[in-house]
Amino acid sequence: MSISTEGITKTYNSQKALNNVSFEIPKGQIVGFLGPNGAGKSTMMKILTGYINTYEGDAKINNIDIRKYPLDIQHNIGYLPEHNPLYTDMYVREFLNFNANIYNCSKNSVEDVIDLTNLSPEAHKKINQLSKGYRQRVGLAAALVHDPEILILDEPTTGLDPNQLVEIRSLIKSIGKDKTTLLSTHIMQEVEAICDRVIIINKGEVVADEMLDDLTKNQQQIIHVELDYSVELEAFNRLSKVKKAEEIGLYTYELHFDTDKDMRSYVFDFAHDIGLKIKTLNRKNQSLEELFKSLTSK
Ligand code: ADP
Repeated sequence: MSISTEGITKTYNSQKALNNVSFEIPKGQIVGFLGPNGAGKSTMMKILTGYINTYEGDAKINNIDIRKYPLDIQHNIGYLPEHNPLYTDMYVREFLNFNANIYNCSKNSVEDVIDLTNLSPEAHKKINQLSKGYRQRVGLAAALVHDPEILILDEPTTGLDPNQLVEIRSLIKSIGKDKTTLLSTHIMQEVEAICDRVIIINKGEVVADEMLDDLTKNQQQIIHVELDYSVELEAFNRLSKVKKAEEIGLYTYELHFDTDKDMRSYVFDFAHDIGLKIKTLNRKNQSLEELFKSLTSK
């Protein structure tokens, strides 16, 4: 299913939260909706999920006007709102059954979604006994229980610790393979880790709309690696195509490569060969970061 918006303007009292926003997202794409706080991301998502229906312009799912058929549309959308609204006194399975009933789904669909989101070990617990990462999984599971074709995720990783971040991102990436996904965030690494495309919004206006591949093409590649011990900078010269290595923190190094081929696995092998462990390894997409800063700092 596809998503399209044309000339969406939304005003709260006298303040414009969205100003003439248009974009098309084809079936199957994972799009990062990136913007600073207050840019209008949540407002757009509430429009796409039928929760806000007073606005100018058109918002459509598969060419069907959301305002005309909000309930039909909601059956095809999985929505994880910004403040994941869980009934924390409920047990995980009970809460998911409750959601499944809303959509007339079978009990099997609850077990399927528990498997899909790796919730099995926690499914017998009350939601208020879960860590924030598992609560996000429950929110995702609730959004997925009716097997929607479209996923709308509003800042799904806010407040998670680094391990939980990695887990939830990889979960979204794998689930997103079969869905059309719009994911809002103000974290650039999130877009780089998950998305095919980025739409940047600032003060209610779309200021950039690019495929990630186009952004990274011909760009210098920068990798930040955190090791469990220090390394002489010269040692990094053993890595092919390395142009520059700098120490940027305790046991943390910034490596510049002269290639757009993803060098992370080579850095991994390098650390392994010299007997060190990698604590974190991130590819920095300098162009996205620069683009974001230049477009949203005004
Ligand atoms: P984001 O999700 O990017 O942080 P929002 O869509 O939440 O941005 O907000 C966009 C702008 O609209 C902000 O200035 C915010 O204060 C304002 N806004 C959002 N919701 C309301 C509301 N219910 N009433 C009045 N103003 C609102």
